[in-house]
Amino acid sequence: MALITSAVEECLRFDSPVQWNSRIAIEDVELSGVTVPRGAVVLLSLGAANRDADVFPDPSELSEGIGSGQRQQAAEWETLIPVREQVLKALDTAREDKVVGSSLEAAVKLTAGGEMFVRLRKFEGDLPALFIVSQATVERGSGEALEIRIERARGDKCERCWKYTTDVGSDPNFPTVCAPCARILRDYF
Ligand SMILES: [Zn+2]
Repeated sequence: MALITSAVEECLRFDSPVQWNSRIAIEDVELSGVTVPRGAVVLLSLGAANRDADVFPDPSELSEGIGSGQRQQAAEWETLIPVREQVLKALDTAREDKVVGSSLEAAVKLTAGGEMFVRLRKFEGDLPALFIVSQATVERGSGEALEIRIERARGDKCERCWKYTTDVGSDPNFPTVCAPCARILRDYF
């Protein structure tokens, strides 16, 4: 709750819905050494004040509301982008070789050592979504080099999310969908 409050404040600062306002001088008035004559239209740029570097240390960055843990997680996530590119290339080759038809028919098996293994293991649960495949597993290897294998995903195709899983039909009320999809159907429909 504290996070949403500071995040809303920061978003309003970063990109305020009211960027400027105008006034008409009803008499000659001096502002910061400049005389504004009577009748002149003065545009006040509120948005510019929100990016004042004397007040906000890093004015063009969203800062408040984003914790250091989340920043670190985002930075770690960024390092997975080159891995994703390599996996997408391997998926292309697997499609050409008729190992799989669509990427959702694929299971990606990664082998890596050292830091790379630790990072991939940490995000293992998110990897199928990152690669748009049905399954992804990470194993510890000896060298630093990343090894990518593409196989056919195990199980059957879920009629709702199109992923291949071994738990399709585990809920007898919804025999053609996977367990997570069955839970959603049970809860919301
Ligand atoms: Zn499903």
